[in-house]
This record gives sequence, C-alpha cells and structure tokens, in this order.
Amino acid sequence: MIMLFNSHTVRNKFLLILMLIAVLSASVTAGVLIYYQSIDANKSQQDKLVLMSSVISPSLTAAIVFNDIDTINELIMPTVKTEGVFATYVYNNKGELITKIHRDNLYVKRLQVEDKIETSLVLGGEIQGTLIFYVDSSVVDDKMSFYRKLVAQLLIGTLFISLILSIILSRLITRPLSQLINIAKKVNQNNDYTIRAPYHSADEIGDLTNCFNAMLDTVENREHALESTVIERTKALEEANRQLHHQAHEDTLSGLPNRRSLYALLNANVDKKKKFCLLFIDLDGFKQINDSLGHDYGDILLQQVSRRIVSCVRADDFVARLGGDEFTIVLNGLTNEIHIDQIIHNILSSFEIAFSLKNKNIFASASIGVTLYPRDGNNVDTLIKNADQAMYESKRRGKNRSHYFTQEMSQQLINKKEKISDLHKALKNNEFTIYYQPIFNLKNNKVDKAEALIRWQHPTKGLILPDDFLGTIEEEGFMDELGYWVANQVLIDRLKWQQLMSAPMEVSINISPSQFRSKNSLLQKWLAEFETNSLPANAIAFEITEHSLVHDHYKVRTILNDIRNKGIRIAIDDFGVGYSSLSYLQQLNLDTLKIDRSFIDRLTSDNRSYGLCKGIVTIAQELNLMIVAEGIETRTQHKLVTELGCHYGQGYLYDKPMPREEFEHKYITQHLSTCKLEQIP
Ligand code: C2E
Ligand code: MG
Ligand code: MG
Repeated sequence: MIMLFNSHTVRNKFLLILMLIAVLSASVTAGVLIYYQSIDANKSQQDKLVLMSSVISPSLTAAIVFNDIDTINELIMPTVKTEGVFATYVYNNKGELITKIHRDNLYVKRLQVEDKIETSLVLGGEIQGTLIFYVDSSVVDDKMSFYRKLVAQLLIGTLFISLILSIILSRLITRPLSQLINIAKKVNQNNDYTIRAPYHSADEIGDLTNCFNAMLDTVENREHALESTVIERTKALEEANRQLHHQAHEDTLSGLPNRRSLYALLNANVDKKKKFCLLFIDLDGFKQINDSLGHDYGDILLQQVSRRIVSCVRADDFVARLGGDEFTIVLNGLTNEIHIDQIIHNILSSFEIAFSLKNKNIFASASIGVTLYPRDGNNVDTLIKNADQAMYESKRRGKNRSHYFTQEMSQQLINKKEKISDLHKALKNNEFTIYYQPIFNLKNNKVDKAEALIRWQHPTKGLILPDDFLGTIEEEGFMDELGYWVANQVLIDRLKWQQLMSAPMEVSINISPSQFRSKNSLLQKWLAEFETNSLPANAIAFEITEHSLVHDHYKVRTILNDIRNKGIRIAIDDFGVGYSSLSYLQQLNLDTLKIDRSFIDRLTSDNRSYGLCKGIVTIAQELNLMIVAEGIETRTQHKLVTELGCHYGQGYLYDKPMPREEFEHKYITQHLSTCKLEQIP
C-alpha cells in the first residue's frame, strides 16, 4: 500500500484513495452494525429470561412455601433448556440453596464469570426465596461472531468491488491522461511534432486531448516556419561565406586571385623550397588613361589586360592582381631566363594590339620587373619588393619593357627611402625655397609675369629641382601641404613687391591635381586667406595641368570659378601633352594656355610641332586666351613664337628661374621690366 502511495503515477494514487474511502466507509458501517447487534442480542436475551422468570415465579414461590422440591425442579427444569441459560438456582428466604439445575457440567467452570439474573420470589408482600438464572453469553458471542464474519466478508466484498470500480474509473480518467503524458514524452524525446493523441470521449479529457493536439499543431507549424527560416538563413550564410571567401581571395574587378592569394601561394612555395619566377607588371600611363577617360574605361582596360596576361602564360602559372594597375605572375618551377624572356615577350607583344574600350581604341603598354626564387630573395616580402624595384627600373629605362632584379637596385631602393626620410625632415626644417622665372611679354618686351618654381635646398646635396622630389611628395601625400606653403610664400612675396614696384606683375603658382582632390583642402584655406589681402586683381595666377580637369570635372570647375571670381587668373600648363578633350577650353573660365616645352623644342626641327603650335595659337585666339610659349632657349624659337602670335615667352633665353632676392632686385626694385632683345644673351 505504501508502495502504491509512493508511486509516481496519479493512476495508482487515485486507485488507492478510492479503495481507502471504500474500505473506511464499509468498516465504519460494519462497526456500527456490530455494536448495535451486540446491544440488541444482550437485551433480547435478558428480556426473554425476565419474562421466563415472571412466568414461573408464582408457581415457584408456592412450591417454595410448601417446600415442594419436586415441583421446584419440575418448574426450573425447562429453564436450563432455554437458549442462553446454563444453570438455574433457587434459594429460600434464608438464602439457603434449595435446588439447582445445570444444563451440563461443562458450564460449571464458566459459572464465575458469566452474568446472572436474579428474581426475588415474593408472596403476600414477603420474599419467599430467590430465583437465579446463570446466563450463557456464548449465544450472544456466537451471534456476534456470525455478524463479524458477515461484516468481514462484506468488507472483503466491498474492497473487491471498490478495486474493480477504481480500475474502471482509472481506466476512464487516468488512462487517457497517461496516454497524453506518454505522447508528450514521445514528442519531447523525438522532437517529432507530427504525433497526435487519440481522441477518446466528448468530455473534459476529450477537450484536453483537443487542446493538446491543437498545441502540437501550432508547434508543428512554428517548427516548419522555423525550419524554412533556418534553411533560408543557412543558404544566405553560405552565400555570404562564399562571397566573403571570394572577396577575401579574388579580385572583384578582374576575377583574378588577389594579393592575399598571391601571398598564400608564394609562402607555400617558399616553405616547400619550390623554385619559381615572379613577374611584377605595372601598366604604363594607366593613371592618365584613368584620369582622362574616367574610371569606367580604366576598369574595362584592367579587365582586358587581365585576360591578355592570362592568355600568355601556362595553365599552371598563377596570375594575380595586386590592386590598381599592378599584376603579378608566378611562373612555377621556372628559373631559366630564356623561357622567362619568351613569356615576357608574349605579354609585351600582346599589348601591341589596341584595347577596345567601349567605342575607343586605346594603346597601353606595361613595365615588368622579374625576380627569381631563391636567387633574388629567400622570403616573400623581399621577392615582391625586389620585383617591384625591377619594374621601376623598367619604367625608368623608358617603360614597355622588362628588367631582372639586380643587387644594385637594392641600393636605389635604399636611396629612395633616404629621400623620403630627407623630405620629411625638409618639410619640418623648412628647406624649401621659391625661385621666380620671368615671363616676357612678346608684344612689348616687358616682364609683367613670372612663374614661382619650388626648389629644395638640401643640406648636403645642394639645390634639388622639383622633378626630383615632387613625385615622391605626391606619393607620400604631402603635396597639399607643400602647395599651401608655396602659395603662402608667393603671397607674402607678392604683397611685399606691391609696395616696391610701379608696373603690374602677375605671379603664377603651379597647382598640382592632388591639391584639388585633397580632403583637408588647404587650397580652400589659402583662398580664404587670400581674400583678406589688399592685392589688386590679376596679381596672382594659377597654373593647372590638364590632369586636374579630367578627374571630378564638375568639382574642379566649381573651384576654378571660385578662384576666378577672386581675381586670380587661370592658365593651363604644359598644354598639348595631356589626354583630355579640348571641350573643356570652352566650358572653363580660362585665361591662358602655356604651350608645352616639348613643342617649342621641336619647333625648328619638326614641321608637325610647328603646325601644332599654330593650331594651338588659332584655338587660343578663337577663345580669346593668352598664349605663353614655354622653354624658349633660342632666338629662332623666340622669332617663330612671336610670328605665330604667342603673347608671352618663357625660357632660358630670357632668364632662368632665380632666387627671390635676385628676381626682386632685377625685376621689381630695378624695374628691369622692359627687356631689349639685344640685351638677351
Ligand atoms: P612647369 O610648370 O612647366 O615649369 C616650367 C619648367 O620649365 C621649370 O622647371 C623651368 O625651370 C623649366 N624651364 C623654363 N624655361 C626653360 C628652358 O628654356 N629650357 C628648359 N629646359 N627648361 C626651362 P622646374 O622649375 O624644374 O619645374 C619643373 C616642374 O615642376 C614645373 O613645370 C612644374 O610642373 C613643377 N613645379 C615646380 N614648382 C612647383 C610648385 O610649386 N608646385 C607644383 N605643383 N609644381 C611645381
Ligand atoms: Mg608651370
Ligand atoms: Mg610648363
């Protein structure tokens, strides 16, 4: 029973409680019944004996009076035959036993303990004697024993019936519940939400089953929704992973492996000591193409170049794009220069065919640097650096060629690093200075313009010309800063001269394309400062190259308009060698064209140059622009440009660029603004 109660199933507890209730109620009923039966049996026994004594008392009294023993015996004889009486004693009024009758001897022993019923025998108001019945209570006991047995049987019957009823009830109530529990367990264990509980009856259990199944429906639907979401998300994740891997290892523009892939391959080769040849390819003049035609064209060119390079190498060679216009090829297992040269020849030859970009045919060439592993370096960084160095040597030697890395190149690299470090110091220590070159008015032989040209006064190497350091300054990103310094310097000088001179003098400042692109916009800062000075209009001019115009044309146009509105003239420098279309001449608010020195150089030797100059002058005249001929070194050149109609001439024939003090002395304070050609050496 304890086990049943300790059981974890509701069914067993329910069964037990039902049985206990049944047994308890049956026991109470039986107890009450037995109690009343025992009282009843005793009372009826007593009543019966009292009645019997009252019946025989008169005759018995008379017999005692007459001392008739026989009659007395006769009278009391039937009493011991009566059920429940096992002895009858008769006493006289003196308390002496007259007679006694026992049913049998067996009862004698029990005499002491049994009950007795005494009746006084009275005649004429006087007690004549006493009649005593010794009562045999076993009769009542037998009856009670019978009842007890009956009650016991009843109890067992009740227990049995309650058990049956409990089982039936439990089947009706707890079994469906147990089934529900089992199904819930099964669902939970297998995560199978398709299982449903069977519907038994239209009652609360049936309702519970319906609710349970409805809940499973919801969970199953959610599970399905979740499953499809998970599938979708997994797909998206896989795709993102794929793209990430793609982006991490492939160059999106060309579809070629990228820098990371290249390094992985080279590292693997170096680890396994597998020999290879590394070609570093850089397109020649790509920046100009990109600047002049736009990035769209530049991108198409890079894609076509990628395909051409791939078509020139073997299937197991590795072509990667490092970024920009830089490509690398790893020629696996190849260190034989004859074979390498053949591949390089194929690549360079493939560039001889024009690239078709949208509707334009563009020619491009490449410079290639070559390093061999292990000959030129024993680690990847050194090999790439050396290949890059060799590529620069190709550029230096005229582009569209290749060059193998040599140990001397390492020295050049060291020199470059030194130069960068020197330039950093130069900026800090203010080692730059401005030279001024006069520009002669060919119409009246006066000097009313000058160009400001930067110089680097190196502490040990002496005076360095801009072509030797401006490229590095651009690469290192200092052009904006240096340009700002130049413009400020010129402004200070020009303000000073304003007090000293009598004739007008326009000083032009060279503005690099990167100054227009700069985020810090020191150029804008300078313009704001310029506005606060008291210089007359046209005291300052800006010289910009065509490269400035091709990139972000609209932005540059806006800046130029702003500059122009501040009274600063705009000149196009090195005109004729740029890549841009001439339409900008119309669109922009320009003042001057400076014909590039290369045309003037060939003016006497090359008819085409003469024709070109003539053309430029005609265009300029049409557009009402001033023309400056740059690089006039000879009298013939002077004569020719004057005849062509150029307004100004600039060149060593007139004067070289000179330090500020000298220029100030010659052309500002001495008023040597008029130049007699005879005086010119
Ligand atoms: P540019 O603006 O075309 O300047 C003219 C260059 O031609 C100057 O070279 C000048 O010295 C040189 N030159 C003038 N007349 C003759 C001649 O008769 N014969 C020869 N062979 N050369 C002549 P420089 O000073 O070496 O400047 C070179 C370039 O550096 C300049 O070309 C200009 O593009 C750039 N540059 C110079 N100073 C600055 C500057 O402050 N800022 C920027 N952004 N660029 C500058
Ligand atoms: Mg210039
Ligand atoms: Mg120039």
